[in-house]
Amino acid sequence: MISVKEYVALHKAEIKKELENLNEKIHFVIVSMNDDEASKAYIKGKLKDSEEVGIFAEVVRLPLDASQKDMDDLIEKLNNDPSVHGLIVQMPLPKQIDEERVKRLVSPKKDVDGFNPLSKVAPCTPKGIINFLKHLEFNFVGKNAVVIGRSNIVGRPMAQLLLNESCNVTVLHSKTSKEDFNNYVANADLIVVATGRKYLLNKSHKLKESAYVIDVGINRVDGKLYGDCEPELPVAYQTPVPGGVGLLTRVTLLDNLLDIYKDR
Ligand code: NDP
Repeated sequence: MISVKEYVALHKAEIKKELENLNEKIHFVIVSMNDDEASKAYIKGKLKDSEEVGIFAEVVRLPLDASQKDMDDLIEKLNNDPSVHGLIVQMPLPKQIDEERVKRLVSPKKDVDGFNPLSKVAPCTPKGIINFLKHLEFNFVGKNAVVIGRSNIVGRPMAQLLLNESCNVTVLHSKTSKEDFNNYVANADLIVVATGRKYLLNKSHKLKESAYVIDVGINRVDGKLYGDCEPELPVAYQTPVPGGVGLLTRVTLLDNLLDIYKDR
């Protein structure tokens, strides 16, 4: 079966080709108000991906002590700038800034992250997973899909997108009993794990041999990266960490930029 890495390379080449046929370069702005290492790495990745496919990306920085009003004014300015096609505000933000407010302020017409409830595109991580599963020709209809985690950026939109594909969807969370957890995962044809708990799904769980497991988790322990799933589970397909969903999320940002540009 094709690896995530191979799929992403193919898909990026398709996006690049499509962008070459546009009359102008897509202009993408990343607002940064953060200097932690993880955010810097994410921004660097976004700039690199954009450059690779021919998108003009730039970072607009706000000082760490800027106010909510400074952030609101900047977003409003970028929302109203017709030369800007796509806009994201890199999270997390300092304490004095309300992240939920920021997500709603970014115009749905420019919201590449898909975080605004009125956004024209779905959030990158769940959308990327669906696109990848379609490429693998996973047959969604009537399948038992279990999503572990119910955040607004991964678990909930993931469940919604799987429902749109006619899966039977169950969402598990921290209040799910151990017994129910074990029963649901044992009956699942597809399991998407997005909890931020190292090896939450592991070899102690009974799983279907035919199951597909998608590991969203990124857990940094002693400088090493781990997923939410133990590697080499006895299933038909499992995405690795690193080299799995993170790559799908990155390429889907480019999909969203293109979708937003075409739909403007
Ligand atoms: P959140 O912390 O917002 O949500 C975690 C969810 O997991 C919550 O709904 C929580 O339940 C649930 N949970 C926690 N512990 C358990 C448990 N023991 N059993 C069942 N459910 C549990 O995280 P995110 O959704 O933002 O991210 C999840 C993970 O995915 C993180 O590791 C993050 O770094 C990673 N991530 C990776 C991306 C990628 O591109 N690869 C993109 C986005 C995120 P409750 O609601 O009850 O508290």
